Amino acid sequence: MQGTTQKSKDSAKAAETPMPQASKNSDSMVIPVHSVPIEAVDKLTPSWQRQLSDVIEDPAELLHILGLSTDLLPAALAGSSDFQMRVPRAFVQRMQPNNLHDPLLRQVLPLDDEQTRPPAGYSLDPLGEAAANPKPGIVHKYRRRVLLITNGHCAVNCRYCFRRHFPYEDNHLSLQAWNENLDYIRQDTTLNEVILSGGDPLASSDKRLFKLINSIRDIPHIQRIRIHTRLPIVIPDRITDDLLAGLTEQAHRPLNIIVVVHANHAQEIDDAVGDALLKMNQAGMTVLNQSVLLAGINDCAQTLCDLSERLFQYRTLPYYLHLLDPVIGAQHFDVPEKTAKALIEECLLALPGFLVPKLVREIASEGSKTPI
Ligand code: SF4
Repeated sequence: MQGTTQKSKDSAKAAETPMPQASKNSDSMVIPVHSVPIEAVDKLTPSWQRQLSDVIEDPAELLHILGLSTDLLPAALAGSSDFQMRVPRAFVQRMQPNNLHDPLLRQVLPLDDEQTRPPAGYSLDPLGEAAANPKPGIVHKYRRRVLLITNGHCAVNCRYCFRRHFPYEDNHLSLQAWNENLDYIRQDTTLNEVILSGGDPLASSDKRLFKLINSIRDIPHIQRIRIHTRLPIVIPDRITDDLLAGLTEQAHRPLNIIVVVHANHAQEIDDAVGDALLKMNQAGMTVLNQSVLLAGINDCAQTLCDLSERLFQYRTLPYYLHLLDPVIGAQHFDVPEKTAKALIEECLLALPGFLVPKLVREIASEGSKTPI
């Protein structure tokens, strides 16, 4: 991401991936402390963590895998230097080779339309989060809910992301800052819900995530925890039995856990993703999906209906369909409000009401999302 330096990304990866330790003997030769072969260490690392460490960040590699022309490379590199391209291989496997218009590819590959001059009203911080950032790591915009920036990186960098310019490096937290944020939540007894967002909260190790969630469970006025994550969609192996057990464990005060995933097109939901959604549902979590309405990707009533049907096949309800947040670099994804309303009207004719997401726009100064 822009604002996420290579160094911080590397350190994030290092924090998530166990490494063989090394030390020096008396002859100053570097030898491993344990003679564990690297393959064995790899096997000890959960599959999802290995996949997270092995995301594609080089546009040339992505173009090569998909058989696309290297003519696209200069624009892709230019876009990636502004906001790093980042895409898990499990997501790439769902893309159609030789198709520049593939709806999954278009979400992740920088193209030259990112460099066009944005219309008036586009900004680096379209939702005014800087003003609602009372302490590093906290965004407090809405009554009764507070959002914690759980970590500074995602498994995938979506080209339309409203946080593509978010200063994650200023929100990288020491343990002390972390505890101060928990104190902020403890002291504000009007709060009843904590939203874990990011970056992607599920990109954190289980140990770190459970520590945070159990601390929140101990705050008596908090009734539910909402996890905003795209990991079950892009790396479904993240939904392990250990994760589900930790999120639903009863030793601490039980809380409602709501998982809001993010898929924009039915093609994102293959059988492995479907299994992950069902497992979360079967573990007792409420699973919802939010999407962004994106020109050239899902701005078609049939595509939106197919997404809702596919989600519900795996017991996941469509929640929000967001109009694009006007962030600089994403202007080419905008769908006019009038078109968006017409699409939703078509969906209402084709689907039962519970499968039609709420069309909303987020306005920086408003106390809630604005229904359209
Ligand atoms: S996963 Fe969410 S927060 Fe991360 S880049 Fe995509 S839209 Fe942004």
